Amino acid sequence: MDEIDRIRELFTARNIKITPQRVAVYRAMRVLGHACAEEVAGEVRKTTPTTTVGTIYNALDCLVEHGLLAKIQTTDNKMYFDINTREHYHLYCEKTHRIEDFEDEGLARIIRAYLARNSVPGFRVTGTRLQLTGTFEK
Ligand SMILES: [Zn+2]
Repeated sequence: MDEIDRIRELFTARNIKITPQRVAVYRAMRVLGHACAEEVAGEVRKTTPTTTVGTIYNALDCLVEHGLLAKIQTTDNKMYFDINTREHYHLYCEKTHRIEDFEDEGLARIIRAYLARNSVPGFRVTGTRLQLTGTFEK
């Protein structure tokens, strides 16, 4: 089974209507990991140059709605999409806008333990999203 077949199967399992654009967008996100819509468009257009940005946005929104992509906003208000939909943290480079996953079980445990002891009045916490902002050394 090739990559496209696996993506089609994934869409079917999630009741997502299969269109070539959605498949192309998901495939691009698997290459990119984290990307803004323009970056996804750039990747998709390598194989299908006529795809419009509107189509890309629609496909991205659809995949977010169905839980195949996560939407993340950086502290400088740029919107990115993430192939990793599990709860995880990010490192965000202010200079290059590069985003990398940051998995730290110790930190996650501290946050979970804190929230278990300290509720937020009038608010039910369903998840955490943490972004460390800085610069990569290389
Ligand atoms: Zn991520």
